[in-house]
Amino acid sequence: MKFQTIRGMQDLLPEQQTLFSDISDRVGSVLHRYGYAEMGMPLLESTSLFKRVIGEATDIVEKEMYTFDDRNGDSLTLRPEGTASCVRVAQQHGLLFNQTQRFWYRGPMFRYERPQKGRYRQFEQIGAECFGMAGPDIDAELILMCARLWRELGIADEIELELNSMGDAASRGEFREALVGYLEQYKSELDEDSLRRLESNPLRILDSKVASTQAILTDAPKLKDFIDDESKAHFEELCAILDAAGLAYHINPSIVRGLDYYNRTVFEWVTNSLGAQGTVCGGGRYDGLVEQMGGKPTPGVGFAMGLDRLALMLEQKFQSAAVADIYVVSTAGDARMLALKVAETIRDALPAARVVVHCHSGKFKAQMKKADASDAKIALIIGEEEVAAQSVNVKMLRDEGQSQNLVGLNDLISHLTEVLK
Ligand code: ATP
Ligand code: MG
Repeated sequence: MKFQTIRGMQDLLPEQQTLFSDISDRVGSVLHRYGYAEMGMPLLESTSLFKRVIGEATDIVEKEMYTFDDRNGDSLTLRPEGTASCVRVAQQHGLLFNQTQRFWYRGPMFRYERPQKGRYRQFEQIGAECFGMAGPDIDAELILMCARLWRELGIADEIELELNSMGDAASRGEFREALVGYLEQYKSELDEDSLRRLESNPLRILDSKVASTQAILTDAPKLKDFIDDESKAHFEELCAILDAAGLAYHINPSIVRGLDYYNRTVFEWVTNSLGAQGTVCGGGRYDGLVEQMGGKPTPGVGFAMGLDRLALMLEQKFQSAAVADIYVVSTAGDARMLALKVAETIRDALPAARVVVHCHSGKFKAQMKKADASDAKIALIIGEEEVAAQSVNVKMLRDEGQSQNLVGLNDLISHLTEVLK
């Protein structure tokens, strides 16, 4: 019997993992430059946390969570998203009282979904959450930070910003009532999912992919007609900041986000280059959440981006990562001993250089093939003659003619420093 990955789970082979780590580091470095502090959160939380925060009538809680009883009989859930945990951490450790905070986190999330390209049951997110700041300036900062990131990753041309305001809780309540009133007239024509949501979470019907339902929605009441004045002003100011920064966006009234906690600003970064799984990053404001979780009223806003989808976009752009700058080949015995010693000396003196020693038997020719495949710029060749002369042959693998020099051990570091420039 051969074991296989569980459906929806992915193995990241070295090339893919390198790409993931690379993207993650680049995102992290941008967040760092904006003054965001990284935090780590457990993969497991009590099930009730997610039910309470995300909402009972959401897709995630209704059908996507990995929930089980532990040996103690407590119901636990593998986190399907990061905001709930982040708010819990901030509250539990008293990080929110009279403070402004900018946090970020990264790691796997779990949702029991139908796996397809860009949609997995374990996927990687990077999230940012800001607390204690109520104005549109911080919404704008989060959005501009994403825009910078797309530029640095070289994908700014392929991603667009979709923006909407959901108003405050009261205006959403009024809209909800009006929407339900309107849709009740079409009960017999609604698809099954939408009919169910009419009771539990009618706003989600706006997201429906069913054409006949979308047709019914054409004449439905519009959220924007219910938005309170303060939320309107907040949104206008946000748009003004983005305009002043020269950032293009598209106001999309159907963006309501799948989770219960959002209010006012909501946004998504969307691409055409990934087919149906086009949302690379989603976020918004959640001013009521901390209070709803038993804390003092604290405004919040954040986003989460999907690393798997970013990796799919970047796959073609990044060359497969080279594993070595210097590859050391040698014959067995004394020469191999010298090879290992020389490699350590280089690692001490040139910490940025990646040095790989061929640690397996094999003829010189086969070893040189490995050196070539490693993408290394330089092969160091050590045989009995080199040992006798206390020297190393330095071969420039990528130069025309592949020049080769016998270099004494004492001069090796300065020689390598020169040729690695
Ligand atoms: P979608 O509409 O694609 O299901 P979502 O609204 O459920 O996305 P969020 O909860 O906002 O997604 O998560 C933020 C980001 O995480 C998404 O924009 C996406 O890039 C990524 N993401 C979400 N679910 C998955 C998944 N199952 N597999 C891979 N990436 C995902
Ligand atoms: Mg989803």
